[in-house]
Amino acid sequence: MLKLYNTLTRQKEDFKPLEENTVRMYTCGLTVYSEAHIGNMRAYLFMDNLRKVLKYNDYNLNHVMNITDVGHMTSDADEGEDKMEKAARKANKNPLDIAHEITEKFLNDFDRLNIERPEHITPATEHIKDMEEYVAKIMENGYAYETSKGIYFDTSKLKSYGELSRANLEKQLAGARIEVDSEKRNPLDFALWIKAPKEHIMKWNSRWGECYPGWHIECSAMGHKYLGTKFDIHTGGVDHIPIHHENEIAQAKGAYGINPANLWMHVEFLLIDGGKMSKSLGNCYTISTLVEKGYEPLAYRYFTYTSHYRNKLNFTWESIDSAQKSLLRLREAYFNHENGTEDVSEELLNEWKEEFKSAINDDLNFPLAMATVWEVAKFAKHSKKIAKLLLDFDSVLSLSIDKKEEKTLLLDKEIEELLEKRKAARENKDFKTSDEIRDLLLQKGYKVIDTKTGQQIEKV
Ligand code: AMP
Ligand code: ZN
Repeated sequence: MLKLYNTLTRQKEDFKPLEENTVRMYTCGLTVYSEAHIGNMRAYLFMDNLRKVLKYNDYNLNHVMNITDVGHMTSDADEGEDKMEKAARKANKNPLDIAHEITEKFLNDFDRLNIERPEHITPATEHIKDMEEYVAKIMENGYAYETSKGIYFDTSKLKSYGELSRANLEKQLAGARIEVDSEKRNPLDFALWIKAPKEHIMKWNSRWGECYPGWHIECSAMGHKYLGTKFDIHTGGVDHIPIHHENEIAQAKGAYGINPANLWMHVEFLLIDGGKMSKSLGNCYTISTLVEKGYEPLAYRYFTYTSHYRNKLNFTWESIDSAQKSLLRLREAYFNHENGTEDVSEELLNEWKEEFKSAINDDLNFPLAMATVWEVAKFAKHSKKIAKLLLDFDSVLSLSIDKKEEKTLLLDKEIEELLEKRKAARENKDFKTSDEIRDLLLQKGYKVIDTKTGQQIEKV
């Protein structure tokens, strides 16, 4: 039985879809004003792991991920300005051009990380009318009011407001009180529909004049359009719990009287060197940063399996280095089995499969599943049956366990030693030795490239 942790009930629950065999799921997509960093990608790897675990349990998927290309303010509440507009002004570009460019890069990262694309990828700007209708419905039901700035949700009308974040609400309230908007009825009331200032680039004509949508209404409207009033799972990062998802629930209750998702799932944050990622610290690494430093994107995917999704995960260069090495070792082990001729009992194979499945089915316990994967991979007898089982595990892990090139590249001891010697020679400024080793490597079929971050090697 698949068990998943529900933030709403603070419990692991037995999973059962509302509709027989198809899981309807919504994931909050990227705000496409700047390139996704590896923290964002942790969230989408979690989303993909969930998809693959559901598929491993023979469910079909109807999954929506939006693209936030308007309405996400510089603070998750309604203060500040639209992140897209700000980026557009800074780059002197059209916000939608930025949105397209970043979305393309984002989806390219999906490919590099073996993240499957959800069945529907829905940009907010293509669903403005659906959002306006949703706001109108909330208004009709008496849960919203108009001010000179826009349409606001009246949180005092909803007794259950704050049910998702619980304890955090008090803190939020204290924060909200600092921002005084005399037209708001309650400090936690939030914007559904925002009246656009003259200079605002993205705005649409609506029954309330030239407006643009609030970030929260986007997800409510798109979720409703593609998945209906009630669907199975809603996912996002933990930062979404206190504001974005709380507000999505409020909106759905205001419009349809119902919490839109049965299960709310949240992935914890990625830290860098034990701290936050931030532009000012220059540590908003992207998948491209890792590639530039010579790591495979899939090494990052492997690295995320070292921690459960509900725990924080700390990125260091040592940890990605060790993940890369482990991934290559895993592939080497796979090929040893693939070339093996020995036999293993069906009983043992089934036992391992059960162990793997029970780990991933226990609220996506990937670190535990990896322990089984390694037990299987390291098994002393080399057997094609084991290779087949590892491939079966990889339908969930998505590490391209049967990928060949890297294996021959990095697992040859002699080549590794030569590279080490060359590195030492370069550090001692002994360029003669360094060049000799480079030529020797070339004779052996490897081309060395010196990059800012060290030597990289390619098969010629
Ligand atoms: P945003 O573009 O800000 O809407 O974020 C996209 C996704 O990335 C959301 O699900 C966030 O919760 C998630 N996210 C942002 N920063 C991190 C981080 N450091 N670690 C994990 N997830 C993150
Ligand atoms: Zn959302």
